[in-house]
Parts: sequence; structure tokens; C-alpha cells
Amino acid sequence: MPQLSVILPSYNEEQNIENTYNVLSKLLTENNIDFELIFVSDGSRDETYNNICKIAEKDVRVRGCEFSRNFGKEAAIFAGLELSRGKATVVMDCDLQHPPAVILEMYDEWKKGAEVVEGIKSSRGKESAIHRFVTGIFYSIMTGLIKMDMKASSDFKLLDRKVVDALVELPEKDTFFRALSFWVGFKTVKVYYEVQERAFGESKWSTGSLIRYAISNVTSFTTLPLKIVSVIGMVFVVFAIGLGIQTLVRFIMGNAFDGFTTVILLLLIIGGLILISLGIIGNYLARVYEEVKGRPRYIISNRTDEK
Ligand code: UDP
Ligand code: MG
Repeated sequence: MPQLSVILPSYNEEQNIENTYNVLSKLLTENNIDFELIFVSDGSRDETYNNICKIAEKDVRVRGCEFSRNFGKEAAIFAGLELSRGKATVVMDCDLQHPPAVILEMYDEWKKGAEVVEGIKSSRGKESAIHRFVTGIFYSIMTGLIKMDMKASSDFKLLDRKVVDALVELPEKDTFFRALSFWVGFKTVKVYYEVQERAFGESKWSTGSLIRYAISNVTSFTTLPLKIVSVIGMVFVVFAIGLGIQTLVRFIMGNAFDGFTTVILLLLIIGGLILISLGIIGNYLARVYEEVKGRPRYIISNRTDEK
């Protein structure tokens, strides 16, 4: 059993695999850490998996698998966790945006007794304005909802074997790794790092996929939006009773409003709120539906260690 497993989710990263392997294996060898590298190709359509295989043939410390299609980074991380055998496991991006030297810091913290070492971004690196705007909104909502500071957190973490086993045991299919590592608890230590420039290639996230990711993560972690719907409903009932009484009194006294504006505004506001509420409920229903189907998180089509 190696001391350290490093999980590298890789989606269309043909340019990065070999470079990342070279950098990590050099760094860990120099520091006498017994390691294994696990590349999970997330249904890549380029040479990513072939490149992983080439390295795995040369170096037994490298393993990898390929998904049957793109299942997303979350699935790739969990596949890596399931494959990992190390006493500690690091999850990091394979584009070297998570600086490899920080692994050593994390490893030291783990040696000193930490069970989860969270990589915290001290700066977010270069991002487009729209990206920053969307992620900004997303993280403020998440921070408010799950009461954990999500803004600076990332998927760059070190987990003790116990934590990996606990995470892999979780039955839910639609996971949010970043927050789940808070949720499972354990002795947690933070390590700060600067987000680097991507080594090669470009980011795999579009603004659209980020918004979808955000909604899926909010609904996977909290039912607060559902409760907000009930609260808004109650506020409106109170409002309706007040307005109803006032309207009746005016009607009886013979000086009822004949304004259409009020009616139209009320219809629009209430109609809008009902539709939003239905949407929120629908989102949760969809999640229940997805989880109940019980489909696996991912499907592995090839593995370097089973040929
Ligand atoms: N990734 C993945 N599946 C996806 C999208 C991304 O496994 O569907 C991997 C990607 O190969 C990289 C990491 O997740 O190692 C982070 O992705 P990226 O660098 O595109 O995101 P960013 O750093 O821009 O947030
Ligand atoms: Mg990246």
C-alpha cells in the first residue's frame, strides 16, 4: 500500500498528462514519498487515455481508467477515490493549477495528525469577469446556505484513508465533493495556495455548465430553498387576509377600488412567485428522481491494470 495516492481527474487533457506525471513523480521521489498516481479520464475524446496507458506501462506507480462517456469531474474524483489505495489521498487538477509543492505541505500536516487537509485559494488566479461574477454569486449563496466558507475552498485536498472510506461509502450519486469533505467532519487543517496558470490547454467549464453545476450543488446540499418557498407563501397569505378585509370593508362601505393596475400587479407577482416555487420544487423532485433510479456515478470502460 503506497503512502500517498494522487487522484487526477482528466478530461481532454492530452497535453497535460505526461508533463503532470513528470512534475509529480520528480517532486514526490525527491521527497521520499512512496506514491501512486491515478489518472481518471472522464470520457475524453482526445489522446488522454492513450497517454495515461503509455505512462502506466513504463511506471507501475501509475494507474488509470477511462469512463465510457463524460460523467463530470465529481464522478471522476469519486472513481479515483474508489481506486486509490494510499494511506493518504490527494485530489488535484491535472492541469497543474493546483501547485504541486503544496502537496508536500499537505503531507506534512497529515503526518502531524490532520485527517482532512483543505487547499484554500489565497487568490483565484486569472478568470474572466463573467466567470468571476457567476462563481461569486454561487459561492455567496452556498456559504449562506451550508454555513461553510465555500468561496476560497477547492477540490484540492488531502484525505486520510478513513475519510476516503467514509466518502466512498456515501450512497448518493450526485455528489459535491468540496462540501462533502466538510460534511464528513474529521480533524481538518487548512493550507493556502495561489491558483496557477493552466499548464496546457484550456478550461473545460463553460458559464452554462457552471450555472448547472451551481444549481445541482445547492439542491444536493440544502433544502433551504424549499423552506423559503413556504415562508414566502405564508407572508402572502397574511398579506392576502389584510388586503381581503380592506377590500371587503371598502366594498360594503360603497367606495371599492376600480383600479385594474392593482389586480394586474398582484396577478403578475403571485403568478411569478408560484412559477418560481414550482421550479424550485421541480428541481428537488428531479434530484429525488435521479437518486431513486440508483444508477452508478460513472461507468468505467477501460482500466490500465486490467488488460
Ligand atoms: N475535468 C473533468 N471532467 C470534466 C471537466 C473537467 O475531469 O467534465 C477535470 C479537468 O481535466 C481538470 C479539472 O477537472 O483536471 C479542472 O478542470 P478545468 O481546469 O477545466 O477547470 P478550471 O480549473 O478552469 O476550474
Ligand atoms: Mg484548471
